[in-house]
Amino acid sequence: MKLFKQIFSPQAYGKMLEEIHKMGFSFMIFGEATSRPKNLYLRHDVDICLEAAYNMAVVEHSKSVRSTFFIMLRSEFYNAYSNESISYIRGIRKLGHEIGLHYHPGSIQNKKKYQNDEEIQRDFDRLSGIVNDAIVPYFSIHNPVNLDYDHSSYTFVHDKKFIENMKYISDSRMFFREGNPLDVFTSGSYALVQLLIHPIFWHYGGETLEASLKVYRDSYLKKIEKKLYDDFNGSLKNP
Ligand SMILES: [Zn+2]
Repeated sequence: MKLFKQIFSPQAYGKMLEEIHKMGFSFMIFGEATSRPKNLYLRHDVDICLEAAYNMAVVEHSKSVRSTFFIMLRSEFYNAYSNESISYIRGIRKLGHEIGLHYHPGSIQNKKKYQNDEEIQRDFDRLSGIVNDAIVPYFSIHNPVNLDYDHSSYTFVHDKKFIENMKYISDSRMFFREGNPLDVFTSGSYALVQLLIHPIFWHYGGETLEASLKVYRDSYLKKIEKKLYDDFNGSLKNP
């Protein structure tokens, strides 16, 4: 069996989008209705880096592609409330993409059902406040313990009712389990696909997961160092 090796870079990503387009698939926003024959929900879980997400939004915009970015409020790596984050999030929205919630249940990580979960309701309200506009009523879960979540007002992207007749593929851990993801689109077997793409892998694109995370780490350290000095210099001038 021939092993498939995906190249992760913004250019490779743009090329993949073009190929999917050529195969007659329409890019759909979560919650959008369609009568077109072949459709794709393109989803991004933004776990680590909003800058990478924004750059991916730019690549997609240049290819006339719309997608849904699922943003975290409880990321260990970015603060969705910082001015920089807000401008990235609103920038993504301005490019024509939609925003959903990438939920990190935290203290209730082991909870199985969310029907009346007020915490998730509050997170939706907060995120919509950050975007300063309505967001799609869909959520993905960061490191879910199972796929059996369900809420009365919001739809989990792996909800059984939602993914019925839908083929799901993902680049999790920089690995497409099915081999070349484009084969799913050329096979003719699927009319509805959900594709999960993590912006960080394609933006920092190394050969391996470890290499990509190292590139991210180095660029983050440089950025945080500059911010630290800028912040202190600013405070001396304006005590
Ligand atoms: Zn996640």
